[in-house]
Amino acid sequence: MFGPKTHALQKRAQNVIPLGVNSNFRYWGDEVTPYMQRAKGSHIWDVDNNEYIDFRLAFGPIILGHSYDEVDQKVIEEIQNGVLSAMTSELEIEVVEMIVDMSPAIEMARLACSGTESTMHAIRVARAYTGRDLILKFEGNYHGMHDHTLWSTYSPSEAYGNVRSPIPVPASSGIPKAMREFIITVPFNDKEGFERVMRSYGEQIAAVITEPAMGNCAAITPEDGFLELIREKTEEYGCVFILDEVKTGFRIANGGAQEYYRIKPDLVTYAKALGNGYPIAAFGGRREIMSIVGHGVAQGGTYTNNKPGIAAAYMTLKLLKEKPILKTIEKRGQRLMDGLKEIFEENDMQVAVTGFPSMFAFSLGVDKITNQREWSKSDRELYLHLADKAIERGVMPDHDPREPWFLCYEHSDADIDKALNVYAEIVKEAKG
Ligand code: PLP
Repeated sequence: MFGPKTHALQKRAQNVIPLGVNSNFRYWGDEVTPYMQRAKGSHIWDVDNNEYIDFRLAFGPIILGHSYDEVDQKVIEEIQNGVLSAMTSELEIEVVEMIVDMSPAIEMARLACSGTESTMHAIRVARAYTGRDLILKFEGNYHGMHDHTLWSTYSPSEAYGNVRSPIPVPASSGIPKAMREFIITVPFNDKEGFERVMRSYGEQIAAVITEPAMGNCAAITPEDGFLELIREKTEEYGCVFILDEVKTGFRIANGGAQEYYRIKPDLVTYAKALGNGYPIAAFGGRREIMSIVGHGVAQGGTYTNNKPGIAAAYMTLKLLKEKPILKTIEKRGQRLMDGLKEIFEENDMQVAVTGFPSMFAFSLGVDKITNQREWSKSDRELYLHLADKAIERGVMPDHDPREPWFLCYEHSDADIDKALNVYAEIVKEAKG
């Protein structure tokens, strides 16, 4: 896969950068890790000048298209008056006003630079608000790189123990053992298990944090009543309900999963699609909770008002409000989702297609998945084999089958046709 320039660059990178990448998630293996030359619209070129239809979209942030002209123009215009300052600008107030206006559950928000930062801050605020320490998260959900929730994210699910008494598994060396005291894990969509844990620990739990759908495990969606049960029980036990919309926010609806599922969490976290690729994030929610920030509750960051991020968020949100962007993505994404399902079924391959048209996944060798334990029984080797063949033919999904396929406004009908034609060919070939 890829070409001589890619391999040379990887060797050079590995001399000075661990694994040759600046995020473990970008490493696919020696000789098979792509290095990017440029990206425009829905397409990306590697350093050997091979062109691909990009369904990775930087792990989700690109909602309009790569190097989207109106966003870039706004950024260029703004940075000419200073990239960063120790003062607050009118534009950042406007961006937060737009976030509040578009998000059903947000009355006040603060800006940050990454999803990791926004969930870390939300967790601090929830602990400060409740005066409690415990955090409940769901297996297979990922909330960023901080130690608080980097538990039971990517481990083999055999390590998770019995469903009645799940074992939180740290996803990295270097997480202090003492942090184990503060985390409880439950399988996603396990209403009974969740209720059991709430009965035992509800009064000690500061926050229940969840992705509305498993953006880091095949975009598995919540079963009927799951998010509502979290809302009900967090209210009953006085815990803060944090909805991590870093992947779903400004992607599955203008008002994110809050709007899509008509659910009102206490706090919400955003990043990714908020800035169409520029570094910007936010966390916010109920006025009563957010009002404690700054009153004995620390939050800050040198770059939290960085002008490129603020300007990009301003233009991205403006365009989302003014144009039928998500509706257009939905139409094309639905065709791709349905078309892929049909291809597998026509070839008598078992498949579970999960997620939303703008962010979906297919898992092979299974027909229904509701959590990470079930997903781990899918045929990952076949998925990878097909991904490699697709990449050779110019269609690029992620190498990790847990990572959804992402669509942006600039994915055209021709892109969808090509992806479907390529998968029709390679699935037929794989079947033999
Ligand atoms: N929360 C969710 C749901 C995510 O998917 C991610 C990243 O993929 C994060 C938080 C962390 O965001 P970042 O990579 O911007 O730190």
